[in-house]
Amino acid sequence: MEMLTRRGFFWQSFEIYGGISGFFDYGPLGNVLRRKIEDIWRKHFVTMEKAVEIDTPTVCIEDVFVASGHVSHFTDVAIECEKCGKVFRADHYIKEVLGIEIDSSVETIGEIIESYDLKCECGGKFRLFHFNLMFSTKIGPGKGKRGYLRPETAQGIFIDFKRLLEFCRQKLPFGIAQIGRAYRNEISPRQGVIRLREFNQAELEYFVNPKDKFHPNFRKYEDVVVRLLDKRERLHELTLKKAVDEGVICHELMAYFIGKTREFLIEVGIDEGRLRFRQHRDDERAHYAIDCWDAEVLTSYGWIEVVGIADRTDYDLKKHAEHSGEDLRVFVQYEEPLKVKRRKIIPNMRKLGPAYRDKAKVISERLSEVEVDGEVEFVVVNVEGEEIEIPREFFEIKEVEEEIHGEKIFPHVIEPSFGLDRITYAVLEHCFDKDFVDGEERRVLRLRRWIAPIPVAVLPLLSREPFTSKAKIIAEMLRRDGIYTDYDDSGSIGRRYRRFDEIGTPFCITVDHQTFEDETVTVRDRDTTRQIRVKVDELSSVLRELLESERDITEFGEIFRD
Ligand code: AMP
Repeated sequence: MEMLTRRGFFWQSFEIYGGISGFFDYGPLGNVLRRKIEDIWRKHFVTMEKAVEIDTPTVCIEDVFVASGHVSHFTDVAIECEKCGKVFRADHYIKEVLGIEIDSSVETIGEIIESYDLKCECGGKFRLFHFNLMFSTKIGPGKGKRGYLRPETAQGIFIDFKRLLEFCRQKLPFGIAQIGRAYRNEISPRQGVIRLREFNQAELEYFVNPKDKFHPNFRKYEDVVVRLLDKRERLHELTLKKAVDEGVICHELMAYFIGKTREFLIEVGIDEGRLRFRQHRDDERAHYAIDCWDAEVLTSYGWIEVVGIADRTDYDLKKHAEHSGEDLRVFVQYEEPLKVKRRKIIPNMRKLGPAYRDKAKVISERLSEVEVDGEVEFVVVNVEGEEIEIPREFFEIKEVEEEIHGEKIFPHVIEPSFGLDRITYAVLEHCFDKDFVDGEERRVLRLRRWIAPIPVAVLPLLSREPFTSKAKIIAEMLRRDGIYTDYDDSGSIGRRYRRFDEIGTPFCITVDHQTFEDETVTVRDRDTTRQIRVKVDELSSVLRELLESERDITEFGEIFRD
């Protein structure tokens, strides 16, 4: 963290006023890194998934979260010392003090506090309470309207479902993504950038027919071996196909997103050896999910959740349909129309006319809409609010055969939800390394080349003319060719190489004496510190190829220094 703060990745927010936990600022390098990770996420989960991305407000009206259940359920149990007033998240406190992992129900926590006679360090007794994690606000002046800052980006997608369904031509399956800020008023967050009160999420809501929890591209991942820790804490190392066949993973679609998540995390620089997928226990799952697997990575904070993949079923759409009165179902066409026999009512107009006069026509229409199972003695119809009982003599019952082409259903949704801040931090930890170069220890950030915030730096060998001017011209040429390039002429060349190694710059270009003889420069590889000579006019294309791949620099030029 010291290095990340000093080198401009991120730091505590509101620093000059003493700061507050749960908020971090992204500095210039961290900001670029997170955005690059975001772009790779977009490639995998929007472009390749043929999904679409939307952007909805972070301030939402109360109705949204009453319907979604967040107002009543999105809580953690807190304990407050009755003497000194300190507040802790109960399950975290118990884990820290007693080393036991617990479910977070008030009853369990109450029992533990009592049986272990847990007291605050000041000696005070603890009081237990539910704390809602949403930040509330008021929309407009005066009494205003109660609002909340969204605790997840997903709700914006459910709210817009009707319009999105139309946009996606009413056909399942389809994916809708959203990347943006989410807010959770975490109780006493003490894990630096891991637990934030304002953070960045990237979520995909993949809507499917509940009967079709498959994916056409599952084959791509079916032979991939993953480390799975199931809800009974049994560890499996299985191919994804086997995990589905043996029932460790509930369905193919969940396994597909586990495979895809793994692929994405490795591409941005997570070390596969420090990655596992853990299934939520029944007592920890969110109120909206029937199954959930977290991608967890091992960091200096222990195993942390960086992605949650949940099967949210039709929970959210049903709740919003119920509360808004809108029909949020999808018409699903059958492959073959179904032939069904129905018993329909055929009104007898000759009898209805004289008996019911001006109401006869409406009664006849209502009767035609009625279906019956067997014989009946009368049917009740509603005419302008009035319930009228129509005796059997006014209609006949006939059996008819009809074709049904489909039905309306609530789709289910599978949601891979990514915490971009945790991923960014974990990537930095996993890429951080130390080695020895020229007998000296160096710190090096072995970021994948394509996500390095500063991919290239141009350095004059000596900090004087004509080296400096020539280096500036080359840096400008690379920028014109679309390669983000830094320039640095301060301090010895060795010190400058170390500075760029520390922030993960994969390639340093050096302008030296030979440059003025044959228009070549050296390209130095961060990881091996090897250098090759490349012609200035080929430099942009060589760098572009190197930055998109993991090819060895020696494929691109003569070794200048090993
Ligand atoms: P959840 O909806 O709780 O499954 O969260 C989805 C993802 O958001 C998690 O996998 C985390 O990576 C991230 N996340 C959740 N809460 C926080 C937080 N307080 N600070 C930073 N990231 C978070």
